[in-house]
Amino acid sequence: MAHDVSPADLIQLKPHQFTAILTDLGGATSHTAIIARGLNTPCVVGLHRARQILHENDTLIVDGERGVVIVNPDKQVLAEYKLRQDQWELERKKLKGLKTKRAITLEGTRIELHANIEMPGDLPDVKENAAAGVGLFRSEFLFLNRDELPDEEEQFEAYRTVAEGMHGLPVTIRTFDLGADKQLKGVQRVASNPALGLRAIRLCLSEPLLFRTQLRALLRASHYGNVKILVPMLSGAMEINQTLQAVAAAQQSLDNEGIPYNRETPIGGMIEIPSAALALGAFTRKLDFVSIGTNDLIQYTLAIDRTDEEVAHLYDPLHPAVLHLLAQVIGGANKAGIPVSVCGEMAGEVAYTRLLLGLGLRQFSMHPAQLFSVKQRVLTTSLADASTLAHKILRADDPMKIRELLDKLNAG
Ligand code: PEP
Ligand code: MG
Repeated sequence: MAHDVSPADLIQLKPHQFTAILTDLGGATSHTAIIARGLNTPCVVGLHRARQILHENDTLIVDGERGVVIVNPDKQVLAEYKLRQDQWELERKKLKGLKTKRAITLEGTRIELHANIEMPGDLPDVKENAAAGVGLFRSEFLFLNRDELPDEEEQFEAYRTVAEGMHGLPVTIRTFDLGADKQLKGVQRVASNPALGLRAIRLCLSEPLLFRTQLRALLRASHYGNVKILVPMLSGAMEINQTLQAVAAAQQSLDNEGIPYNRETPIGGMIEIPSAALALGAFTRKLDFVSIGTNDLIQYTLAIDRTDEEVAHLYDPLHPAVLHLLAQVIGGANKAGIPVSVCGEMAGEVAYTRLLLGLGLRQFSMHPAQLFSVKQRVLTTSLADASTLAHKILRADDPMKIRELLDKLNAG
């Protein structure tokens, strides 16, 4: 239990066993919460004054699914939760039976279900849950909790390990997204508004040597597997051009040294700023694929800091503005013939699987632990029905109506 835990601190606790994690601060799509999901540990963030209210030796029920903590429950509540826990474990066991099943809809359309990872050490989880690829490797975690930055060799080894470990399946590695809630050790300057500051590709373009080192390592790893490079936080054509120039320069330097790499390595962009969604044409014309980061896209569209518990209740994936941007990007990319995926937390939430399928999405990337639940939902989905209801949802603007239609979409 803590006032706050940074993503960098939490990742260090990965090898340890926890019963649950509680924090006063934070939002459900903050990187701290995302990592907790990766630990398969119940976690409730944004509890405000929990540390003052709770005492040593209190008995707690931590319901991470609903974001609820029950303090000193009576026997009846405890018994009910024990039952729920047993049912949950039984359900997880049953879902494991889907391991060898292909993810296809009722019509037989193949859906790609990929995994999000933070470290090469997450690969066993990816395999255990039969992901069809790594859809998002958040490479910045290699840079945290250390005094010296990883050099080209160390990065190359990490990327190659994942590329080889996936045996030809796609591995999408994101260039580092540092600068907001994930800072390099020793960085003193804290931007007045880090989420809007020198983050991700902005930081990369302002630190060309750091970027070049990573691009060279990524390109070198492309020789050993099916590597794709994904660039976070692009806002439009100018940054795309600068990024592609940086890639070309890294390729040239490898050519000069005779180092092999895949010349066709696909370069993709994350759609996570509203400007990117609205100016999608620049992305589909210049890049090989796009991946929608709903965590940030929602944050920036609704002007809600995803790490701030004070406004967490306003964070709404079903806001009509968000849904229209999603529909526009998925539809636009499909029309342009460019692969599109969703790799934000929405992709791993079963409640949104059919909605996204109905909007035309065919590729999802999520935490490995969520893959079987989403696969189960895919297996029982009719794309035709999902499309009809998803488009009805798009035409609705009343939140109650949207939820009612979503329930209908998810029924059965
Ligand atoms: C996102 O923004 O949805 C995303 C996948 O990236 P991150 O959560 O690392 O910001
Ligand atoms: Mg993001």
